[in-house]
Amino acid sequence: MAGERSVTDEPEYDYVIVGGGTAGCVLAARLTEDPDCRVCVIEGGPSDVGDERILRPRNWINLLGSEFDYGSCRMGADDDPLAVLDPQLRVRGVSGVRVVDASPFPTMPTINPVLTVLLAAERAADLIKGTQQPGEAR
Ligand SMILES: Cc1cc2nc3c(=O)[nH]c(=O)nc-3n(C[C@H](O)[C@H](O)[C@H](O)COP(=O)(O)OP(=O)(O)OC[C@H]3O[C@@H](n4cnc5c(N)ncnc54)[C@H](O)[C@@H]3O)c2cc1C
Repeated sequence: MAGERSVTDEPEYDYVIVGGGTAGCVLAARLTEDPDCRVCVIEGGPSDVGDERILRPRNWINLLGSEFDYGSCRMGADDDPLAVLDPQLRVRGVSGVRVVDASPFPTMPTINPVLTVLLAAERAADLIKGTQQPGEAR
């Protein structure tokens, strides 16, 4: 019927990025360097409006251990039973899913964290595009 949309009308994407923040935007920018690559960024996070944990810097220490913390998603070798991610940031046991943010960081660097997240996203883009192997210097 005219005006109705079917599932086949939906665009197809090569990659779906969940979260249009620091890492998500870097990844989207890098992947779309290839004009044939179709990327969908889904931004659906909660608003910071009224969140006193975010709005008041004196409360930031309380973000440790919250959903804003790092190190929640360990990366490691195949024989590491606690490693959720493999060295290419792929979720073990789940096909086609990678984690690109501060979750795999074993410790937080002493520089501004956003810089390290930016570099992690650049590295992830290289891994995804197959231009760099794990452990290979850029
Ligand atoms: C209060 C605060 C102050 C900070 N100040 C500094 C600073 O001064 N300097 C510095 O270097 N770093 C700072 N950081 C750290 C820096 O913001 C982070 O290291 C960096 O932004 C992390 O990047 P990310 O891509 O992992 O997450 P984000 O940039 O937070 O991106 C995650 C995105 O995912 C979205 N999202 C969440 N849930 C969903 C969902 N279910 N579906 C779809 N999308 C979703 C969010 O809305 C967000 O846009 C600060 C962090 C906080 C919390």
